[in-house]
Amino acid sequence: MKVKVPVHKNEEYPAKVVDLSYEGNGVVKIDDFPVFVPNALPGEEVTVKITKVASHFAWGRVMAWQTKSPDRVDVKDKKYIQTGIAPLGHLKYAAQLKFKQHQIEELLEKAHLDDIEVLPTMGMDQPYHYRNKAQVPVKMIRGQLQTGFYKRGSHSLVPIEDFYIQDPKIDSAIVVVRNLLRKYHVTPYDERTSKGVIRTVMVRRGYYSHELMVVLVTNTRRLPMADQIVNGIVAGVPEVKSIVQNINDKRTNRLLGDRNRTLWGKDEIHDQLLGIDFAISPLSFYQVNPQQTERLYQTAIDNAGLDGSQTVIDAYCGIGTISLAVAKHAKQVYGVEIVPAAIEDAKHNAKRNGIKNAQFVVGKAEDQFAKWQAAGLKPDVVIVDPPRKGVAETLIEATGQMASKKVIYVSCNPATLVRDIKRFGEQGYHVVKPIQPVDQFPQTTHVESVTVLERTDK
Ligand code: SAH
Repeated sequence: MKVKVPVHKNEEYPAKVVDLSYEGNGVVKIDDFPVFVPNALPGEEVTVKITKVASHFAWGRVMAWQTKSPDRVDVKDKKYIQTGIAPLGHLKYAAQLKFKQHQIEELLEKAHLDDIEVLPTMGMDQPYHYRNKAQVPVKMIRGQLQTGFYKRGSHSLVPIEDFYIQDPKIDSAIVVVRNLLRKYHVTPYDERTSKGVIRTVMVRRGYYSHELMVVLVTNTRRLPMADQIVNGIVAGVPEVKSIVQNINDKRTNRLLGDRNRTLWGKDEIHDQLLGIDFAISPLSFYQVNPQQTERLYQTAIDNAGLDGSQTVIDAYCGIGTISLAVAKHAKQVYGVEIVPAAIEDAKHNAKRNGIKNAQFVVGKAEDQFAKWQAAGLKPDVVIVDPPRKGVAETLIEATGQMASKKVIYVSCNPATLVRDIKRFGEQGYHVVKPIQPVDQFPQTTHVESVTVLERTDK
């Protein structure tokens, strides 16, 4: 169907913001034609200049506000919105939490599942400075080495020292490293020529352990002035326990390469989640907001109703965070995950923590479910924590075949959650409690939640 486009590029229109898209952009309608407008909030009356026109929608920019939303935070520093560090930074935190709850409610309503309730989002008392990991690109800008963050949808670097949502100890470590790289004239990598040395600085810090790791990602095998830089980091970053060079000499958007060389200290740092000790090396996956991850996973575990006698499957188990925390409340836990290195970490972490009743398998969760089903496995509880694309349909069918009594669904994407709730419904599973959203990524548009389903036909 051809839609008549009523707006023109570079023209200005008066408009009222009617909605906030799931990406956090204001939505205005001009003769029913939707225009997405960054930094515009529902209820605001604005003058919009059209910046880009597509066949079914357009993009615009606010030129002036006639009225502002009471939920608006006046962001002094536009960098955070420009770079996508904090795309919801202009919305008061209480309103961010409501926005996340409403997103799930709206999708349920569209799917005619509005009898399912959604609880208020569990938020953070201090919704800033929460990230325990930073990966910061290094670039030469007008003759000076800079660290910062890319503008949304581009490779143009905005120099930043205070990253707003990262652990401030990490921000200070990055400044120390940046100053040393400047002092010793280390050249930043240039994407166009593939020349230069330093590509990215990565810093991780244990929330409980306070152990800090600095990873210098280089385009070259040799890091010039390595000793001086290492000594400078050790002197300038009191908590540092590990300094690693990671070599990434490929023309790629991937931040880290496969080769690590420990320049100083240990090869890995440690931190705890839900009372379990985890080893974290440069390439390990590890949850970036430990406080809220604990609340999210604890909600999942509390709802599993475990008394030590159950068999539990943890599908999409990553490094086994959920599996290992569940193990002490269950008879046996089975984890499956597609990334081999994550399963190695899971096994290693099980051993270190003396956990013997957790088994980990590398594979596609859907394939492994078919195998478990064929082998006659009868789980009492299936926990799924899938990526954004949700759970494979065959996994849902296998869960029904294995007749698990409960399914706990940890979701990072409400759209696929709602789709999958319908599919679980076809296997006899029904949502037995209000859905609990948990804010894992304050100031951003990510929506995480826990849903409890039970089999009601048997
Ligand atoms: N709970 C985990 C994180 C889950 S994130 C932890 O704390 O470590 C989702 C995971 O699903 C990722 O680790 C991803 O690698 C994995 N994954 C993606 N597709 C998969 C598939 N088809 N089968 C199994 N695992 C998959």
